Amino acid sequence: MAEEKKGAAPKAEAGKKKEKAKKQFKPYTPGRQCSKCGSRMAEHSDRNTCGKCGYMEIRQKGDASAKKN
Ligand SMILES: [Zn+2]
Repeated sequence: MAEEKKGAAPKAEAGKKKEKAKKQFKPYTPGRQCSKCGSRMAEHSDRNTCGKCGYMEIRQKGDASAKKN
């Protein structure tokens, strides 16, 4: 009986390289400017705040539904 050794299976996708996770740089987007000192304000979900002078600006979204009880 002839013995056929078929040990290692052919490696599939041997040449596939590990892809590095690319760093995503945020494009500079000029946000709201503080009307007091003119520096860029931090954007929050519902407001913009200035870290320099502490000025806060309430964000007004499209819906003008006033929540008043
Ligand atoms: Zn400011």
